[in-house]
Amino acid sequence: MTDLTRLTAAETAAAVASGEASAVDVAQAHLDRIGAVDEKVHAFLHVDTEGALDAARAVDERRAKGEKLGPLAGVPLALKDIFTTKGIPTTVGSKILEGWIPPYDATVTKRLKDAGIVILGKTNMDEFAMGSSTENSAYGPTGNPWDLTRIPGGSGGGSSAALASYQAPLAIGTDTGGSIRQPAAVTGTVGVKPTYGGVSRYGMVAFSSSLDQGGPCARTVLDAALLHEAIAGYDPLDSTSIDAPVPSVVEAARNGNVQGMRIGVVKEFGGEGYQAGVMQRFNESVELLRELGAEIVEISCPSFKLALPAYYLIAPSEASSNLARFDAMRYGLRVGDDGTKSAEEVTALTREAGFGDEVKRRIILGTYALSSGYYDAYYGSAQKVRTLITRDFEAAFGTVDVLVSPTTPTTAFPIGERVDDPMAMYLADLCTIPSNLAGNAAMSVPCGLAPEDGLPVGLQIIAPAMADDRLYRVGAAVEAALTGRWGHPLLEEAPAL
Ligand code: GLN
Repeated sequence: MTDLTRLTAAETAAAVASGEASAVDVAQAHLDRIGAVDEKVHAFLHVDTEGALDAARAVDERRAKGEKLGPLAGVPLALKDIFTTKGIPTTVGSKILEGWIPPYDATVTKRLKDAGIVILGKTNMDEFAMGSSTENSAYGPTGNPWDLTRIPGGSGGGSSAALASYQAPLAIGTDTGGSIRQPAAVTGTVGVKPTYGGVSRYGMVAFSSSLDQGGPCARTVLDAALLHEAIAGYDPLDSTSIDAPVPSVVEAARNGNVQGMRIGVVKEFGGEGYQAGVMQRFNESVELLRELGAEIVEISCPSFKLALPAYYLIAPSEASSNLARFDAMRYGLRVGDDGTKSAEEVTALTREAGFGDEVKRRIILGTYALSSGYYDAYYGSAQKVRTLITRDFEAAFGTVDVLVSPTTPTTAFPIGERVDDPMAMYLADLCTIPSNLAGNAAMSVPCGLAPEDGLPVGLQIIAPAMADDRLYRVGAAVEAALTGRWGHPLLEEAPAL
Protein backbone atom coordinates (compact mmCIF):
# COMPACT_ATOMS: atom_id res chain seq x y z
CA MET A 1 0.00 0.00 0.00
CA THR A 2 1.13 3.56 -0.67
CA ASP A 3 2.40 5.86 2.05
CA LEU A 4 -0.63 6.35 4.30
CA THR A 5 0.41 9.90 5.20
CA ARG A 6 0.02 11.00 1.57
CA LEU A 7 -3.66 10.07 1.27
CA THR A 8 -6.45 12.61 1.52
CA ALA A 9 -8.85 12.28 4.43
CA ALA A 10 -11.56 10.96 2.10
CA GLU A 11 -9.18 8.31 0.73
CA THR A 12 -8.05 7.38 4.23
CA ALA A 13 -11.62 6.94 5.45
CA ALA A 14 -12.40 4.77 2.42
CA ALA A 15 -9.30 2.64 3.04
CA VAL A 16 -10.30 2.15 6.68
CA ALA A 17 -13.93 1.40 5.83
CA SER A 18 -12.97 -1.19 3.21
CA GLY A 19 -10.39 -2.79 5.46
CA GLU A 20 -7.57 -1.95 3.06
CA ALA A 21 -5.82 -0.27 5.99
CA SER A 22 -6.56 -0.43 9.70
CA ALA A 23 -7.13 2.77 11.64
CA VAL A 24 -4.25 1.73 13.90
CA ASP A 25 -1.88 1.46 10.90
CA VAL A 26 -3.02 4.88 9.70
CA ALA A 27 -2.51 6.43 13.16
CA GLN A 28 0.89 4.75 13.55
CA ALA A 29 2.05 6.00 10.12
CA HIS A 30 1.23 9.56 11.17
CA LEU A 31 2.81 9.18 14.61
CA ASP A 32 5.96 7.90 12.86
CA ARG A 33 5.88 10.87 10.50
CA ILE A 34 5.57 13.21 13.49
CA GLY A 35 8.52 11.45 15.08
CA ALA A 36 10.54 11.89 11.89
CA VAL A 37 9.86 15.52 11.02
CA ASP A 38 8.30 17.47 13.87
CA GLU A 39 11.59 18.23 15.55
CA LYS A 40 12.25 20.43 12.52
CA VAL A 41 8.71 21.77 11.97
CA HIS A 42 7.45 22.07 15.57
CA ALA A 43 3.79 21.86 14.62
CA PHE A 44 2.79 20.03 17.81
CA LEU A 45 2.90 21.16 21.42
CA HIS A 46 1.64 17.81 22.65
CA VAL A 47 1.41 14.45 20.90
CA ASP A 48 -1.09 12.03 22.42
CA THR A 49 0.36 8.75 21.17
CA GLU A 50 -1.66 6.50 23.46
CA GLY A 51 -4.92 8.38 23.05
CA ALA A 52 -4.56 8.31 19.27
CA LEU A 53 -3.85 4.58 19.14
CA ASP A 54 -6.73 3.86 21.54
CA ALA A 55 -9.13 5.90 19.40
CA ALA A 56 -7.90 4.12 16.27
CA ARG A 57 -8.29 0.72 17.91
CA ALA A 58 -11.88 1.59 18.84
CA VAL A 59 -12.63 2.37 15.18
CA ASP A 60 -11.11 -0.93 14.06
CA GLU A 61 -13.18 -2.78 16.67
CA ARG A 62 -16.38 -1.10 15.54
CA ARG A 63 -15.62 -2.07 11.97
CA ALA A 64 -14.87 -5.67 13.00
CA LYS A 65 -18.30 -5.80 14.66
CA GLY A 66 -19.87 -4.71 11.40
CA GLU A 67 -20.93 -1.26 12.62
CA LYS A 68 -21.36 1.42 10.01
CA LEU A 69 -18.52 3.96 10.30
CA GLY A 70 -18.88 7.72 9.78
CA PRO A 71 -17.36 9.42 6.71
CA LEU A 72 -14.14 10.35 8.57
CA ALA A 73 -13.80 7.42 10.96
CA GLY A 74 -10.17 6.48 11.49
CA VAL A 75 -8.79 9.68 9.95
CA PRO A 76 -6.07 11.41 12.04
CA LEU A 77 -6.35 15.08 12.97
CA ALA A 78 -4.21 17.80 14.52
CA LEU A 79 -6.18 19.96 16.98
CA LYS A 80 -5.28 23.57 17.69
CA ASP A 81 -4.31 23.91 21.34
CA ILE A 82 -7.15 26.35 21.99
CA PHE A 83 -9.80 23.61 22.33
CA THR A 84 -10.19 21.92 25.68
CA THR A 85 -9.41 18.22 25.69
CA LYS A 86 -10.35 16.19 28.73
CA GLY A 87 -7.22 14.82 30.40
CA ILE A 88 -4.89 16.30 27.76
CA PRO A 89 -2.94 19.57 28.31
CA THR A 90 -4.43 22.71 26.77
CA THR A 91 -2.09 25.71 26.85
CA VAL A 92 -3.44 28.16 24.21
CA GLY A 93 0.25 28.74 23.44
CA SER A 94 0.59 30.52 26.81
CA LYS A 95 2.71 30.02 29.90
CA ILE A 96 -0.27 31.01 32.00
CA LEU A 97 -1.99 27.69 31.23
CA GLU A 98 1.15 25.56 31.39
CA GLY A 99 0.33 22.31 33.14
CA TRP A 100 -3.45 22.83 33.02
CA ILE A 101 -5.38 19.65 32.28
CA PRO A 102 -8.97 20.45 31.32
CA PRO A 103 -11.70 18.46 33.08
CA TYR A 104 -13.94 18.52 29.99
CA ASP A 105 -14.00 18.35 26.19
CA ALA A 106 -14.93 21.28 23.97
CA THR A 107 -17.95 20.57 21.78
CA VAL A 108 -15.63 20.44 18.75
CA THR A 109 -13.40 17.90 20.53
CA LYS A 110 -16.43 15.83 21.47
CA ARG A 111 -17.82 15.86 17.93
CA LEU A 112 -14.44 14.81 16.51
CA LYS A 113 -14.31 11.89 18.90
CA ASP A 114 -17.92 10.93 18.17
CA ALA A 115 -17.08 10.90 14.45
CA GLY A 116 -14.27 8.39 15.06
CA ILE A 117 -11.67 10.97 14.07
CA VAL A 118 -8.30 10.19 15.67
CA ILE A 119 -6.84 13.19 17.51
CA LEU A 120 -3.04 12.97 17.21
CA GLY A 121 -2.25 15.91 19.47
CA LYS A 122 -2.45 19.64 20.06
CA THR A 123 -0.89 22.16 17.70
CA ASN A 124 1.23 25.23 18.26
CA MET A 125 -0.31 28.69 18.01
CA ASP A 126 0.25 32.32 18.84
CA GLU A 127 -0.50 32.91 22.51
CA PHE A 128 -4.28 33.23 22.92
CA ALA A 129 -4.51 33.25 19.10
CA MET A 130 -3.05 36.75 18.97
CA GLY A 131 -0.75 36.96 15.98
CA SER A 132 -0.21 36.12 12.33
CA SER A 133 2.97 34.05 12.44
CA THR A 134 2.90 31.65 15.45
CA GLU A 135 5.98 33.51 16.72
CA ASN A 136 3.98 34.74 19.72
CA SER A 137 3.72 31.19 21.08
CA ALA A 138 5.32 30.88 24.50
CA TYR A 139 6.70 27.55 23.31
CA GLY A 140 8.74 28.73 20.33
CA PRO A 141 7.89 29.22 16.65
CA THR A 142 6.74 26.71 14.02
CA GLY A 143 8.45 26.46 10.64
CA ASN A 144 6.69 26.62 7.28
CA PRO A 145 7.26 23.24 5.57
CA TRP A 146 7.89 25.09 2.26
CA ASP A 147 10.85 26.86 3.88
CA LEU A 148 11.55 26.25 7.54
CA THR A 149 13.06 29.71 7.97
CA ARG A 150 9.67 31.25 7.19
CA ILE A 151 6.45 31.56 9.19
CA PRO A 152 3.58 29.07 8.67
CA GLY A 153 1.05 31.83 9.29
CA GLY A 154 -0.78 32.48 12.49
CA SER A 155 -2.30 32.16 14.84
CA GLY A 156 -2.93 28.57 13.78
CA GLY A 157 0.49 27.91 12.25
CA GLY A 158 0.86 24.54 13.98
CA SER A 159 -2.27 23.20 12.30
CA SER A 160 -1.35 24.43 8.81
CA ALA A 161 2.25 23.21 9.14
CA ALA A 162 1.04 19.78 10.29
CA LEU A 163 -1.03 19.48 7.10
CA ALA A 164 1.66 20.76 4.76
CA SER A 165 4.27 18.39 6.22
CA TYR A 166 1.95 15.36 5.98
CA GLN A 167 1.80 14.91 9.75
CA ALA A 168 -2.01 14.92 9.58
CA PRO A 169 -4.54 15.04 6.73
CA LEU A 170 -6.98 17.13 8.79
CA ALA A 171 -6.64 19.90 11.34
CA ILE A 172 -8.79 22.33 13.27
CA GLY A 173 -8.15 26.04 13.55
CA THR A 174 -9.86 29.13 14.89
CA ASP A 175 -10.32 32.35 13.01
CA THR A 176 -10.84 35.64 14.86
CA GLY A 177 -9.28 37.84 12.20
CA GLY A 178 -7.82 35.35 9.74
CA SER A 179 -6.09 32.62 11.75
CA ILE A 180 -7.49 29.76 9.68
CA ARG A 181 -7.31 31.40 6.24
CA GLN A 182 -3.95 33.17 6.49
CA PRO A 183 -2.01 30.04 7.61
CA ALA A 184 -3.78 28.06 4.86
CA ALA A 185 -2.73 30.63 2.26
CA VAL A 186 0.95 30.68 3.20
CA THR A 187 1.28 26.88 3.45
CA GLY A 188 -0.62 25.90 0.28
CA THR A 189 -3.50 24.29 2.19
CA VAL A 190 -7.27 24.85 2.49
CA GLY A 191 -8.82 26.69 5.45
CA VAL A 192 -12.41 27.69 6.13
CA LYS A 193 -13.90 30.17 8.54
CA PRO A 194 -17.52 29.04 8.77
CA THR A 195 -20.36 31.49 9.34
CA TYR A 196 -20.13 32.92 12.86
CA GLY A 197 -22.23 30.65 15.07
CA GLY A 198 -21.87 27.73 12.64
CA VAL A 199 -19.41 25.80 14.81
CA SER A 200 -19.74 25.78 18.60
CA ARG A 201 -17.37 27.92 20.68
CA TYR A 202 -18.04 25.89 23.83
CA GLY A 203 -14.68 24.85 25.25
CA MET A 204 -12.76 27.00 22.79
CA VAL A 205 -10.67 29.39 24.90
CA ALA A 206 -12.11 32.85 24.24
CA PHE A 207 -10.05 35.60 22.63
CA SER A 208 -12.69 37.90 21.12
CA SER A 209 -16.06 36.24 21.56
CA SER A 210 -17.96 38.15 18.89
CA LEU A 211 -15.31 37.28 16.26
CA ASP A 212 -13.90 33.85 17.23
CA GLN A 213 -14.93 30.98 14.99
CA GLY A 214 -13.55 27.44 14.86
CA GLY A 215 -13.33 25.71 11.51
CA PRO A 216 -11.78 23.03 9.30
CA CYS A 217 -8.28 22.90 7.78
CA ALA A 218 -7.27 20.28 5.22
CA ARG A 219 -5.24 19.64 2.08
CA THR A 220 -8.29 19.42 -0.21
CA VAL A 221 -11.62 21.22 -0.44
CA LEU A 222 -13.59 17.97 -0.08
CA ASP A 223 -11.67 17.00 3.06
CA ALA A 224 -12.42 20.42 4.56
CA ALA A 225 -16.11 19.94 3.74
CA LEU A 226 -16.23 16.51 5.37
CA LEU A 227 -14.62 17.93 8.49
CA HIS A 228 -16.92 20.97 8.41
CA GLU A 229 -19.99 18.72 8.55
CA ALA A 230 -18.46 16.67 11.36
CA ILE A 231 -18.01 19.65 13.67
CA ALA A 232 -20.76 22.11 12.66
CA GLY A 233 -24.32 22.48 13.86
CA TYR A 234 -26.37 23.76 16.74
CA ASP A 235 -25.02 23.43 20.26
CA PRO A 236 -27.20 24.47 23.20
CA LEU A 237 -24.01 25.01 25.23
CA ASP A 238 -23.06 28.02 23.06
CA SER A 239 -25.56 30.89 23.21
CA THR A 240 -24.37 32.24 19.84
CA SER A 241 -24.71 28.88 18.09
CA ILE A 242 -27.10 29.03 15.09
CA ASP A 243 -30.11 26.76 15.43
CA ALA A 244 -30.54 25.93 11.75
CA PRO A 245 -29.48 23.14 9.40
CA VAL A 246 -25.78 23.09 8.44
CA PRO A 247 -25.28 24.21 4.82
CA SER A 248 -24.70 21.19 2.51
CA VAL A 249 -20.99 21.75 2.12
CA VAL A 250 -19.99 18.18 1.19
CA GLU A 251 -22.48 18.10 -1.65
CA ALA A 252 -21.17 21.48 -2.83
CA ALA A 253 -17.55 20.28 -2.64
CA ARG A 254 -18.40 17.26 -4.77
CA ASN A 255 -20.10 19.48 -7.31
CA GLY A 256 -17.59 22.27 -7.91
CA ASN A 257 -19.26 24.27 -10.64
CA VAL A 258 -19.29 28.02 -11.07
CA GLN A 259 -21.28 28.12 -14.31
CA GLY A 260 -23.56 31.14 -14.17
CA MET A 261 -22.36 32.28 -10.76
CA ARG A 262 -21.78 35.97 -10.19
CA ILE A 263 -18.40 36.56 -8.58
CA GLY A 264 -17.34 39.95 -7.24
CA VAL A 265 -13.73 41.08 -7.15
CA VAL A 266 -13.20 43.37 -4.17
CA LYS A 267 -11.63 46.50 -5.61
CA GLU A 268 -10.10 47.64 -2.31
CA PHE A 269 -7.93 44.52 -1.95
CA GLY A 270 -4.92 45.11 -4.17
CA GLY A 271 -2.43 47.79 -5.13
CA GLU A 272 0.17 49.23 -2.79
CA GLY A 273 1.54 46.79 -0.22
CA TYR A 274 0.50 43.72 -2.24
CA GLN A 275 3.26 41.48 -3.55
CA ALA A 276 3.34 41.37 -7.36
CA GLY A 277 3.35 37.57 -7.54
CA VAL A 278 0.36 37.36 -5.20
CA MET A 279 -1.63 39.71 -7.44
CA GLN A 280 -0.51 37.81 -10.53
CA ARG A 281 -1.79 34.47 -9.20
CA PHE A 282 -4.96 36.12 -7.93
CA ASN A 283 -5.70 37.74 -11.29
CA GLU A 284 -5.08 34.42 -13.05
CA SER A 285 -7.62 32.77 -10.70
CA VAL A 286 -10.20 35.39 -11.60
CA GLU A 287 -9.55 34.70 -15.29
CA LEU A 288 -9.91 30.99 -14.59
CA LEU A 289 -13.27 31.55 -12.92
CA ARG A 290 -14.38 33.50 -15.95
CA GLU A 291 -13.27 30.64 -18.24
CA LEU A 292 -15.22 28.23 -16.05
CA GLY A 293 -18.38 30.15 -16.75
CA ALA A 294 -18.67 32.65 -13.91
CA GLU A 295 -19.60 36.23 -14.48
CA ILE A 296 -16.96 38.53 -12.97
CA VAL A 297 -18.01 41.87 -11.52
CA GLU A 298 -15.87 44.49 -9.83
CA ILE A 299 -17.30 45.46 -6.43
CA SER A 300 -16.33 48.36 -4.21
CA CYS A 301 -16.53 47.96 -0.45
CA PRO A 302 -15.26 51.35 0.73
CA SER A 303 -15.54 50.62 4.47
CA PHE A 304 -13.14 47.68 4.25
CA LYS A 305 -10.20 50.05 4.53
CA LEU A 306 -11.35 50.80 8.09
CA ALA A 307 -11.61 47.12 9.04
CA LEU A 308 -8.09 46.77 10.42
CA PRO A 309 -8.29 49.70 12.89
CA ALA A 310 -11.81 48.67 13.94
CA TYR A 311 -10.66 45.10 14.53
CA TYR A 312 -7.67 46.23 16.59
CA LEU A 313 -10.03 48.07 18.93
CA ILE A 314 -12.81 45.49 19.15
CA ALA A 315 -10.65 42.36 19.45
CA PRO A 316 -8.37 43.74 22.21
CA SER A 317 -11.40 45.17 24.05
CA GLU A 318 -13.08 41.79 24.20
CA ALA A 319 -9.77 40.11 25.00
CA SER A 320 -9.15 42.43 27.95
CA SER A 321 -12.43 41.24 29.42
CA ASN A 322 -12.10 37.55 28.48
CA LEU A 323 -8.56 37.24 29.82
CA ALA A 324 -9.55 38.61 33.23
CA ARG A 325 -10.37 35.02 34.20
CA PHE A 326 -6.65 34.17 34.26
CA ASP A 327 -6.25 35.41 37.81
CA ALA A 328 -3.91 32.72 39.24
CA MET A 329 -6.79 31.31 41.27
CA ARG A 330 -8.61 29.19 38.74
CA TYR A 331 -6.22 27.65 36.24
CA GLY A 332 -2.58 26.81 35.52
CA LEU A 333 0.27 29.00 36.64
CA ARG A 334 0.46 30.62 40.11
CA VAL A 335 3.46 32.81 40.96
CA GLY A 336 4.44 34.24 44.37
CA ASP A 337 2.00 32.26 46.50
CA ASP A 338 4.38 32.02 49.49
CA GLY A 339 1.95 32.91 52.25
CA THR A 340 3.13 36.51 52.59
CA LYS A 341 1.33 38.10 49.66
CA SER A 342 -2.24 39.18 49.06
CA ALA A 343 -4.41 37.57 46.39
CA GLU A 344 -4.07 40.74 44.30
CA GLU A 345 -0.28 40.54 44.47
CA VAL A 346 -0.29 36.88 43.42
CA THR A 347 -2.62 37.69 40.54
CA ALA A 348 -0.38 40.53 39.38
CA LEU A 349 2.81 38.46 39.65
CA THR A 350 1.20 35.55 37.80
CA ARG A 351 -0.13 37.70 34.96
CA GLU A 352 3.22 39.46 34.68
CA ALA A 353 5.05 36.13 34.39
CA GLY A 354 2.40 34.19 32.48
CA PHE A 355 1.40 36.53 29.65
CA GLY A 356 3.68 37.41 26.73
CA ASP A 357 4.25 40.88 25.28
CA GLU A 358 1.54 40.77 22.60
CA VAL A 359 -1.11 39.61 25.07
CA LYS A 360 -0.14 42.37 27.52
CA ARG A 361 -0.18 44.93 24.71
CA ARG A 362 -3.73 43.92 23.79
CA ILE A 363 -5.01 43.87 27.38
CA ILE A 364 -3.67 47.39 27.90
CA LEU A 365 -5.07 48.59 24.58
CA GLY A 366 -8.46 46.99 25.20
CA THR A 367 -8.74 48.28 28.75
CA TYR A 368 -7.95 51.77 27.50
CA ALA A 369 -10.46 51.57 24.62
CA LEU A 370 -13.18 50.48 27.04
CA SER A 371 -12.40 53.05 29.75
CA SER A 372 -15.29 55.42 30.44
CA GLY A 373 -13.52 58.50 29.08
CA TYR A 374 -12.58 56.92 25.77
CA TYR A 375 -15.32 54.35 25.20
CA ASP A 376 -17.28 56.41 22.67
CA ALA A 377 -14.20 57.64 20.84
CA TYR A 378 -12.63 54.20 20.38
CA TYR A 379 -14.82 51.19 21.08
CA GLY A 380 -18.02 52.98 20.07
CA SER A 381 -16.53 54.25 16.80
CA ALA A 382 -15.16 50.82 15.99
CA GLN A 383 -18.62 49.30 16.44
CA LYS A 384 -20.04 51.88 14.02
CA VAL A 385 -17.40 50.92 11.47
CA ARG A 386 -18.39 47.30 12.00
CA THR A 387 -21.94 48.19 10.98
CA LEU A 388 -20.66 49.97 7.85
CA ILE A 389 -18.63 46.91 6.87
CA THR A 390 -21.65 44.67 7.34
CA ARG A 391 -23.65 47.02 5.09
CA ASP A 392 -20.93 46.90 2.40
CA PHE A 393 -21.23 43.11 2.42
CA GLU A 394 -25.02 43.27 2.28
CA ALA A 395 -24.88 45.59 -0.71
CA ALA A 396 -22.28 43.38 -2.43
CA PHE A 397 -24.24 40.18 -1.87
CA GLY A 398 -27.27 41.91 -3.33
CA THR A 399 -25.36 41.82 -6.63
CA VAL A 400 -23.01 38.82 -6.48
CA ASP A 401 -23.04 35.27 -5.07
CA VAL A 402 -19.52 35.37 -3.65
CA LEU A 403 -16.63 37.80 -3.38
CA VAL A 404 -12.99 36.96 -4.08
CA SER A 405 -9.66 38.52 -3.13
CA PRO A 406 -6.13 37.43 -2.34
CA THR A 407 -6.16 35.85 1.15
CA THR A 408 -3.00 37.69 2.19
CA PRO A 409 -1.07 40.63 0.73
CA THR A 410 2.22 38.68 0.72
CA THR A 411 3.55 35.12 0.84
CA ALA A 412 5.14 33.67 4.01
CA PHE A 413 7.64 36.12 5.46
CA PRO A 414 10.89 35.14 7.23
CA ILE A 415 10.71 34.22 10.92
CA GLY A 416 11.84 37.27 12.90
CA GLU A 417 11.05 39.84 10.20
CA ARG A 418 7.92 41.32 11.78
CA VAL A 419 8.08 40.31 15.46
CA ASP A 420 9.20 43.74 16.60
CA ASP A 421 6.82 45.58 14.30
CA PRO A 422 3.22 44.89 15.38
CA MET A 423 1.80 47.10 12.61
CA ALA A 424 3.57 45.10 9.89
CA MET A 425 2.34 41.89 11.52
CA TYR A 426 -1.26 43.17 11.68
CA LEU A 427 -1.24 43.84 7.92
CA ALA A 428 -1.15 40.10 7.23
CA ASP A 429 -4.89 40.04 8.01
CA LEU A 430 -5.93 42.99 5.89
CA CYS A 431 -8.15 40.91 3.58
CA THR A 432 -9.48 38.42 6.09
CA ILE A 433 -10.71 40.68 8.92
CA PRO A 434 -13.87 42.12 7.28
CA SER A 435 -15.55 38.68 7.28
CA ASN A 436 -14.96 38.28 11.01
CA LEU A 437 -16.46 41.69 11.71
CA ALA A 438 -19.52 40.86 9.60
CA GLY A 439 -19.76 37.20 10.66
CA ASN A 440 -20.00 35.73 7.16
CA ALA A 441 -18.21 32.67 5.78
CA ALA A 442 -14.85 32.61 3.98
CA MET A 443 -12.30 30.16 2.63
CA SER A 444 -8.71 30.18 1.43
CA VAL A 445 -7.79 27.78 -1.36
CA PRO A 446 -4.32 27.43 -2.97
CA CYS A 447 -3.98 29.25 -6.30
CA GLY A 448 -0.32 28.83 -7.20
CA LEU A 449 3.22 29.82 -6.26
CA ALA A 450 4.43 33.40 -6.42
CA PRO A 451 7.03 33.55 -9.23
CA GLU A 452 9.47 35.72 -7.25
CA ASP A 453 9.86 33.40 -4.24
CA GLY A 454 8.19 30.09 -5.18
CA LEU A 455 5.90 30.25 -2.13
CA PRO A 456 2.16 29.46 -2.01
CA VAL A 457 -0.55 32.04 -2.67
CA GLY A 458 -4.12 31.75 -1.40
CA LEU A 459 -7.35 32.76 -3.11
CA GLN A 460 -9.96 34.00 -0.64
CA ILE A 461 -13.63 33.28 -1.36
CA ILE A 462 -16.27 35.04 0.77
CA ALA A 463 -19.95 34.04 0.99
CA PRO A 464 -22.94 35.43 2.89
CA ALA A 465 -23.75 34.06 6.34
CA MET A 466 -25.19 30.53 6.17
CA ALA A 467 -24.19 30.20 2.51
CA ASP A 468 -20.97 28.33 3.37
CA ASP A 469 -21.80 25.83 0.62
CA ARG A 470 -20.98 28.48 -2.01
CA LEU A 471 -17.38 28.60 -0.74
CA TYR A 472 -17.02 24.90 -1.36
CA ARG A 473 -18.59 25.06 -4.79
CA VAL A 474 -16.19 27.76 -5.94
CA GLY A 475 -13.23 26.30 -4.03
CA ALA A 476 -13.73 22.85 -5.55
CA ALA A 477 -14.01 24.32 -9.06
CA VAL A 478 -10.78 26.27 -8.66
CA GLU A 479 -9.00 23.32 -7.09
CA ALA A 480 -10.04 20.91 -9.85
CA ALA A 481 -9.11 23.29 -12.66
CA LEU A 482 -5.75 24.24 -11.16
CA THR A 483 -4.67 20.73 -10.18
CA GLY A 484 -5.58 19.73 -13.73
CA ARG A 485 -3.38 22.49 -15.05
CA TRP A 486 -0.48 21.71 -12.69
CA GLY A 487 -0.86 17.96 -13.12
CA HIS A 488 -0.77 17.37 -9.34
CA PRO A 489 -1.78 19.06 -6.06
CA LEU A 490 0.22 22.22 -5.37
CA LEU A 491 1.62 20.81 -2.14
CA GLU A 492 3.55 18.17 -4.04
CA GLU A 493 5.89 20.95 -5.11
CA ALA A 494 6.97 21.59 -1.53
CA PRO A 495 10.51 20.41 -0.79
CA ALA A 496 10.85 17.08 1.02
CA LEU A 497 11.60 17.45 4.71
N1 GLN B 1 -3.77 38.07 13.33
C1 GLN B 1 -4.98 38.49 13.96
C2 GLN B 1 -4.68 38.87 15.38
O1 GLN B 1 -3.56 38.89 15.73
C3 GLN B 1 -6.01 37.42 13.89
C4 GLN B 1 -5.78 36.31 14.83
C5 GLN B 1 -6.82 35.27 14.80
O2 GLN B 1 -7.59 35.14 13.84
N2 GLN B 1 -6.90 34.52 15.87
O3 GLN B 1 -5.53 39.17 16.15
